[in-house]
Amino acid sequence: MSETPYLDLKPLYQEIKAEIDEAVEQCISAGYYINGPNCTAFETEFSNYCNTDGCVGVGNGLDALHLTLRAWNIGPGDEVIVPSNTYIATWLAVTMTGADVVPVEPDITTFNIDPNRIMAAITPRSKAIIPVHLYGHPADMDPIMEIADSNGLKVLEDAAQAHGAYYETRPVGSLGHAAAWSFYPGKNLGAFGDGGAVTSNDTQLIERVRRLGNYGSSEKYVNQEAGFNSRLDELHAAILRVKLKRLNSWNELRKQIAQRYITEIENKIISLPRAKHWASPVWHVFPVLLDKRDLLKEHLEKEGIGSMIHYPIPPHQQEAYQHLGLSTGAYPISEHIHESELSLPMYPHMDKQNVDAVIEAVNSFSSI
Ligand SMILES: *Cc1c(COP(=O)(O)O)cnc(C)c1O
Repeated sequence: MSETPYLDLKPLYQEIKAEIDEAVEQCISAGYYINGPNCTAFETEFSNYCNTDGCVGVGNGLDALHLTLRAWNIGPGDEVIVPSNTYIATWLAVTMTGADVVPVEPDITTFNIDPNRIMAAITPRSKAIIPVHLYGHPADMDPIMEIADSNGLKVLEDAAQAHGAYYETRPVGSLGHAAAWSFYPGKNLGAFGDGGAVTSNDTQLIERVRRLGNYGSSEKYVNQEAGFNSRLDELHAAILRVKLKRLNSWNELRKQIAQRYITEIENKIISLPRAKHWASPVWHVFPVLLDKRDLLKEHLEKEGIGSMIHYPIPPHQQEAYQHLGLSTGAYPISEHIHESELSLPMYPHMDKQNVDAVIEAVNSFSSI
């Protein structure tokens, strides 16, 4: 029996090994390791890809979120609206500024923040909204921007799972006032370590984030503010430049796998994700929902198939946020997703036999 891992990053490297090895070798030989030519070139290439005027590389996705909020002068006493259903980093970025998170429930059909519930969460202390394009499916951005603009709020897209996704005809990363990106290895565009970026049409914001990530300094040894150290390494930028050229073709392979799952999985007890007509998702994760999630996970394991849960515990039920006093039942839609979600194997280089095996195993699953 062949094994089907949840995720395998090795074949991706094999496809581009020669080019990556050359880029790494050149980078090391050139002797610039921080803030060098590859970082500058990647920033230009990635802002072009996202159709924005500016981009700045930072150390990781959490910093991309955190530094952007800081650059908007968000801090203690302020509120930031976040999805109740997200990876905890979205919340942590807010907490790091000293501001308060105000969670809003998702639309169960997109898993993303429900625009219809945002108005009720706005108070005089609200400063920003962070929609997350969770699992690679864009959040419903037009109504979100309308609410934000009419209430004077900033919108920061958490695009960490959605490199290359589109909302109607526009790429994610260009839809809010700014967007935060992660290049964690397993993301659709991943470095070989930690990395991140912020994109925006507001080039002053980009320069403020750059300064905040560079000790609060835009001129060597002159510090205008108390900043941080969070920069995109030159080596990672060199690698990301090679990978960015392939991103669309890799996303295309993900879409083909998702299409096969959607048309060939037939099991009444499992509900499949469906893209909205205005969305072109990039399937960072392929989420299915079912009551007996843990039994399906075990069943797949017996068949040699890996799977993951995104995520087992929602942020408000984590020990880290116990002090907020948001008990079980506070966000029932989010809790329902966390209790019933299972992610099927998904990576560009999954071969036909692996996809066949997943479909067969899911179709043969019964919970009795
Ligand atoms: C991965 C991720 C982050 C954090 O990115 P890091 O680079 O790991 O810090 C933030 N938000 C979401 C939705 C993510 O998936």
